[in-house]
Amino acid sequence: MSAAKQALVIGGGIAGMSAAIVLRESGMKVHLIDRDPEWKVYGAGITITGPTLRVMKRLGILDRVLAEGYTSDGLLVCDAQGNTVAEIETRGEALNGVPGAGGIMRPVLHSILSERLRLLAPRVSLGTSVASLIPGHPTQVTFTDGSTGTYDLVVGADGIFSATRAMMFPDTPEPHYVGQVCWRLMTSRHPAIERRTYFLGGPSKVGINPVSPDQMYMFLLEPVQRFERRPEGDQYRHLDALMAPYGGVVADLRAELNAGSRIVARPLETIFLRAPWYRQGCVLIGDAAHATTPQLASGAGMAMEDGVVLGECVAGEDNIEAALARFMQRRYPRCALVVEKSLTLGRLEKAVTSPIEQVRVVEQALAQLNQPY
Ligand SMILES: Cc1cc2nc3c(=O)[nH]c(=O)nc-3n(C[C@H](O)[C@H](O)[C@H](O)COP(=O)(O)OP(=O)(O)OC[C@H]3O[C@@H](n4cnc5c(N)ncnc54)[C@H](O)[C@@H]3O)c2cc1C
Repeated sequence: MSAAKQALVIGGGIAGMSAAIVLRESGMKVHLIDRDPEWKVYGAGITITGPTLRVMKRLGILDRVLAEGYTSDGLLVCDAQGNTVAEIETRGEALNGVPGAGGIMRPVLHSILSERLRLLAPRVSLGTSVASLIPGHPTQVTFTDGSTGTYDLVVGADGIFSATRAMMFPDTPEPHYVGQVCWRLMTSRHPAIERRTYFLGGPSKVGINPVSPDQMYMFLLEPVQRFERRPEGDQYRHLDALMAPYGGVVADLRAELNAGSRIVARPLETIFLRAPWYRQGCVLIGDAAHATTPQLASGAGMAMEDGVVLGECVAGEDNIEAALARFMQRRYPRCALVVEKSLTLGRLEKAVTSPIEQVRVVEQALAQLNQPY
């Protein structure tokens, strides 16, 4: 039924690969490009939710995620000393039987998605970006290697600092820093950590999540006015100071910190584009349209859902603009919920409000996200 036959996907991250899978499944010719010649991602853990596992099932990757990641149910909330404060239910009927929570290493998820996509034989060009783009029906594209192409659909999935967004909507403001830095420490799994565990009520927000049966990662959200990049071998000293007020498992991890610890620090930035995210056969998805801070651990899930919904809308309409309008209608409220509630949680964390107040926001948002997308 679709009028679109040729799609260009700009960016081979979580959103771009998910869109490419579903567009390819519907019989469309897909050309996916990524500017990174090695198509690699950095080695940090990410948390996945029940809704993220549900969309992974739709993408045909759930079995491998279950085998190579870690899943569980529920979310444990502790105080800064590791005493249990609350438990959050994560299961839900609308999750179609998938577990309610989990974690995985980002490079593992990347290779599962890319292997699934490769089976569908799209055209993939690495080390390539778009030099210029003239939206239309079709859209005309010139690539950085000088080659050109015309496409019925162009999908901008090139992340938070999207160059496609700048070409489509040049007046959009840049993403902004929210006053928190996310520290992640990858380590072997502590026997006491069986599911996602938050430590709230201290000066930072801390969480620990298994990403495989024998690995886990800790994240710590440091409230700080300005992000200062530190030399790699020195990061552990700063993290050590940030972890000092915490007891329990966090204190155990702190005792093992050293110059060789696997640590990644990222400033938290966000952008939420006003509707519409499309213009004449070109559409933005994932972080290019709605980059969230990670409080609800739903950025990757929203990116995957975008890809699936876009593929379904395009396959179900014989007019590309109608398909993109439908896509907008389905995606806007859900993505807005994630970005807004994550920012609310960030504000509560920085104000060091009671763990119970934060738990309520998480519970309500997760219950809404469990609903079908
Ligand atoms: C610190 C931190 C922690 C997070 N933790 C979690 C978590 O626990 N759970 C969760 O669900 N989400 C988490 N997120 C959010 C999640 O990482 C993102 O929402 C998700 O990666 C978005 O996917 P994407 O494909 O839209 O963008 P990206 O993952 O950024 O992928 C963009 C791709 O486009 C390519 N690209 C960029 N520019 C160009 C260009 N000009 N031309 C061609 N290619 C280009 C890049 O090489 C990359 O492959 C976290 C985010 C941060 C910052």
